[in-house]
Order: sequence, then C-alpha cells, then structure tokens
Amino acid sequence: MKSNADTGKNKIEKSRNKIPEFPPAGPGKCSKPETAFFGFFRRRISAMLSGRKQTRRCGRKTNNQKFMPLTHTKDLFAKALKGKYALGAFNVNNMELIQAIVEACEEEKAPLILQISKGARSYANPVYLKKLIEAAVSLSNVPIAVHLDHGDTFELCKQCIDEGFTSVMIDASHEPWEKNVEVTKKVVEYAHKYNCSVESELGHLVGAQFDEGEEGGAHSTSGHYTNPDEAVQFVKETGCDSLAVAIGNSHGAFKFKGEQHLDLERLKAIKKALMDANLGDYPLVLHGASSVPKYLVDEINKYGGQMPDAQGVPEPDIEIARRVGCTKVNIDTDLRMAMTAGIRKVFAESPKEFDPRKYMGPARTHVKDLVRHKVKNVLCCAGHAFD
Ligand SMILES: [Zn+2]
Repeated sequence: MKSNADTGKNKIEKSRNKIPEFPPAGPGKCSKPETAFFGFFRRRISAMLSGRKQTRRCGRKTNNQKFMPLTHTKDLFAKALKGKYALGAFNVNNMELIQAIVEACEEEKAPLILQISKGARSYANPVYLKKLIEAAVSLSNVPIAVHLDHGDTFELCKQCIDEGFTSVMIDASHEPWEKNVEVTKKVVEYAHKYNCSVESELGHLVGAQFDEGEEGGAHSTSGHYTNPDEAVQFVKETGCDSLAVAIGNSHGAFKFKGEQHLDLERLKAIKKALMDANLGDYPLVLHGASSVPKYLVDEINKYGGQMPDAQGVPEPDIEIARRVGCTKVNIDTDLRMAMTAGIRKVFAESPKEFDPRKYMGPARTHVKDLVRHKVKNVLCCAGHAFD
C-alpha cells in the first residue's frame, strides 16, 4: 500500500491546472440559466407548434407508480448533461431535512434528487418517508426524483422499484467483479421493466490517502480507484444507467488529510473512455462529495462538538468534477453537520430551551442555507428546474 500524500498530491495539483480540456467544458462558474418564466412559455409554445402534448411531471402515472408522481432521473440527467450542471442528491431521513432541501431548491428553482438509504428506511419507516416526500412533491413545483442510495441486495432494490422509486442504486462494489456484474445485471433487468434507472458502483471509496498500484500514474486495475477501461466494460456488461466512481472520494466528515484532492485526471479519463466506447455523455456519480464546510466545523466545535480534524472534498474540486461530467453529486454529511450546528447553537445559547420546534426550526434553516449555496454556487443547477 502506497501513500499518495506526496506523489498523488503533485499529480492531482497538476491535473487541476489542466482540467477541463475534455469534454468541451461549460463555463467556469455557474452560467445564467433561462428564467423560469421564459422557459415555461417557450415550452408551451413549442409544444403547441409541434402539436404534441406537453410532458408533465405531476400527475403522470404508470402502472407500477405506487409511490408518487415523480420526475425520472433519466430526464434530469439528460438535461443536466446538456446544461453542464450537476444534480444534488440529498440524503433524507426526517421531515425537517426534506422541508429544508425542497424549500431551498424551490426558491432557487433547482431540480433535485432526494435519496433514501437502507438506514434511513429502517430509522424512519419507508411509509413515513413516502408520505413526507409526497407532501413535499405536492407543495412544490420543482422536479423531484427519489432514489435508493446504496441498495445492497437485489431484494431491497426490487422492494423500492415495486414501491415506485424511479431510480435505485445497487452497490456491490465490495464484491469481486463477477459478482458485482451479476447482481447489477439482475437489478437492471428488473428495474428497466418498470422504467426505473439503475446506478451502480465500481471501485472503492477509500479516500485520497492511498490507492494500490498507482505508481507511475497509471490507472491501475488492482487498486481501489475506478479504472477507465473497466468502467467501459462494466457499463457494457451490466447496462446500468449511471456509474458511481472512486477517485479519492470517501464517505463521512474525515475524508482527507491536509491539502489532498480528488483524482480529477482519472475522472476525465473515465469520461473519455466511456465516450470513446460510444456510450455517449455517460452520467457519472460522485459519492462522498460533502465538502465539510469550515464554518460548520467551527460552529459545531464552538458550541461543544468535537470534530477537530473534519475535512471534506474542496468545493473547487466538485465544481471541476461537475464540468468534467459528474452529473449527480451526493450530499449527506454536510446536511448532518448543518443540522447539528443549528441544534448545538440553540442548546449552547439557550440551555433552558426544550421545545423541539425552537431548535429543529433553526436547524432546518441552517440546512436550507447550505442547500441554497450548493445548488447556486457549486452544482450550478439553480435556475434549471424548468429547462
Ligand atoms: Zn455513497
């Protein structure tokens, strides 16, 4: 096992200076999207001229759609790839998180993905989550997709597909290649029958601390990071609709040490390999992409928390990853931190407070502010809800 603290850092710094050359990059900062008002009338007029019925998000039901009227991630991905922005996939497990995320996206006119993990399902009960999301969808105008995060078995994916999820992830990345291909293929076959998209994962989310077989800057097949040629083979063999990549990202609030970064050069190579293999502008997914903002770490520590070494993916890295082709960016840790900071502040400043609304309310506002910042300044999907 080789530390890439020295060589890796130089390599990635070099790659940061070169990126983005491929694919033709969008603007360096969030470009101004078409206004919602104009977009609405442009779509109506073009629908009238073409004589087709305008596709609507709300009220569209298929036989299997027992869950709620949702937007399909396939539609969201296609628009995001075209518009060179990324979609935020926010993990939810309670009412305040759902409200904060959806309200933030509503105000910023941003399309969004709410994602539910196995842990969230067992914490909140799938029925509660379903009803909460239905409430959010009914009160909101922005496109919302619901995705299963890290489905670990075919059975769990099937259950969510049967409940009407429009997107699921099967994560068998810890298994050997053959097993990962086999289970992903099985989920894809079932999901596609019900118009559900499948995300799979190749590589291990170990962070930027190490990767075996990285000597010489080659994209190893024996290491933890996703290999570009294997990514092509995996997508071809399984038929999955999007792929989560391992490029130095990792889950949690303690991802990096010092000034380490994502292997953006590798991300570029993966995107290029998929395009060269005629798989088109293929959607890639970045897990473990929380930036662990310093202001939240400071706030948590100031009000009695203990997260001294917390560090996430620098936001400029995520911004570059977006331009290189990461279409879905998962955010969970940052939401937890914003909520924790908000609650801690109230408890520290008003120790006599015991009304949950008085601390959950400010915590919800904290999360909302964070999500508004992400969609506006990092993912650049603000203003694209009505594309
Ligand atoms: Zn993940």
